[in-house]
Amino acid sequence: MTSTPSAPPVITRFAPSPTGHLHIGGARTALFCWAYARRHNGAFLLRIEDTDQKRSSEAASRGILEDLAWLGIDWDEGPVFKRENADGTTTTLGGNPRSVGSFYQSDRRDIYDSYVDWLVERDLAYPAFDTPEALAAMRQLAEKEKRTFVYRRAADYNRDAALARMRSGEPCPIRFKMPATPIDFRDEVLGDITVSNDELDDFVIRKADGFPTYHFAVVIDDELMGTTHIMRGQEHLNNTPRHVALMRALVNQTTNRTFRIPKFAHLTVIANQDNSKMSKRDRDKAARAKCRELNIKTADDVRARANARPLPRFDALSPADFEQWLGDKARQLETHALEDLASVIGVELPEIAVDDFRRSGYLPDAVLNYIALLGWNPGEKGPDGKDLERFDTGYLVEKFAFDRVGKSASKFDRAKLIAFNQDAIAQLSDEEFLTRWAAWARRDDVETLERLGIERLKLVAGAIKGRCRTLKDVRPLVSFAMVDDDAYAFNPKDVEKHLKADDGAGLATLRALAPKLQALPAFDVASIDALLDAHATDTGLGMGKVAQPLRVAVTGAAVSPPLGATLAILGRDGTLARIRRCLDTVTRA
Ligand code: GLU
Repeated sequence: MTSTPSAPPVITRFAPSPTGHLHIGGARTALFCWAYARRHNGAFLLRIEDTDQKRSSEAASRGILEDLAWLGIDWDEGPVFKRENADGTTTTLGGNPRSVGSFYQSDRRDIYDSYVDWLVERDLAYPAFDTPEALAAMRQLAEKEKRTFVYRRAADYNRDAALARMRSGEPCPIRFKMPATPIDFRDEVLGDITVSNDELDDFVIRKADGFPTYHFAVVIDDELMGTTHIMRGQEHLNNTPRHVALMRALVNQTTNRTFRIPKFAHLTVIANQDNSKMSKRDRDKAARAKCRELNIKTADDVRARANARPLPRFDALSPADFEQWLGDKARQLETHALEDLASVIGVELPEIAVDDFRRSGYLPDAVLNYIALLGWNPGEKGPDGKDLERFDTGYLVEKFAFDRVGKSASKFDRAKLIAFNQDAIAQLSDEEFLTRWAAWARRDDVETLERLGIERLKLVAGAIKGRCRTLKDVRPLVSFAMVDDDAYAFNPKDVEKHLKADDGAGLATLRALAPKLQALPAFDVASIDALLDAHATDTGLGMGKVAQPLRVAVTGAAVSPPLGATLAILGRDGTLARIRRCLDTVTRA
């Protein structure tokens, strides 16, 4: 069914191919499609383009739905997905209110076939039986004559014979007969575009395996699903004239009208700071460079560094695969094997996919705000007189229009994203911070969550929130509490300065404080702080000379969250055990 009278005025769609996790650039495209639909009271549709059987997977489709749901880019039409919200409620995304059929292209083959048949009957498309050798020879000839190879139907093509072979069931690709006229279309961002017919081949619309190509399925579905605006990356710009040619040739079998030409907007490519395209390969590149730096040449070299730590996902690789990967820039390691490797060689893999950012502890709000600026800006000044950059999705919806979408590549600035994230974390209430952290930690830092527990972490939430660039930073900030009371190391410099100096003044302070801490009626942050304050005043030592010895005694170093919180999270027994151990160890040293 196409746009029924009840169809929304604007229908945008995001149409990922489920070949892996959602790339951050794909998320940016989805965000713009979503914002445009919201702004115009339209619908945002999600379609899974899984016609490439070899490269698509169900796990990847599911991952993409999860990534979009996590970001909060809610789709109105598309696969149904139940999102568990942080507050315990559930939101259902997707659905099929206009009955447009399945949102998975692999379920729609009958529909594509009927349109292919229609084109073939009219000789607007045709079966092609070229052998691989014949195709290679055509390519070689073009190369020799220094022209781009553009496939055209041979002058002596025998249509009747070809149709007979096709009808007898012989597998063959079907090609679209490209009209001999230039193709023009308007891009809302790039302006009017005309492509000469010399550059456009009779491209394949259905492969010999019976599956439609991307070009064909996308055109059929955008018509049947009523897409009014197609936004996608500029890497698809070369495909658009082919799609327009198909749209002009095809007739909607329900309405009997020629396909509509939707509005197009091609969005900037997202580049690294060095202008290279931001791609999943960057993760392999970072790991490969580190291996080179460490002179790692074989899988055994990696294992030797792992110090008997198990590396199940890395070990699943054959040594030969690893060595080939080391020597070949084009190769990529399986994601988890790469992560095992990265943990051994101590390299941080750059985040590329939405899921990488999620696992690294970014907040969706900060990611959305940052990616909205990749190829768009609101063109307004903030209260500080500088370009306005911090906003929420409500603001984006209110302002988003094509006239402020850029034409040239957008550079991904990690430092800026981190700054956005740090600020977003700092602005959360302590409670919200902990809720978000716990939701994240349930998947990505179970050890800290289980070892310390939410109740103990509540004691430090306010103290550490402002120091977290990402949720991942909670762990190093509380790691002092994650080791056994007799297992943390003392930093010799801090011991010297805060405990041994001045004839062991710090140690004397510890001896004086221990019984007071023991006798404290309630061992909570406020009571501990009050006790330490009183001790600092009563002894005339001042807070520094009280706090630092205690901090070194219980954490091993002179830096930790505020002291009341540090002691409270260790608990009375832990604190006293640590002070005793410090007095024993340091006195004897
Ligand atoms: N499946 C295509 C991709 O993932 C969609 C392109 C389009 O939006 O038309 O790149």
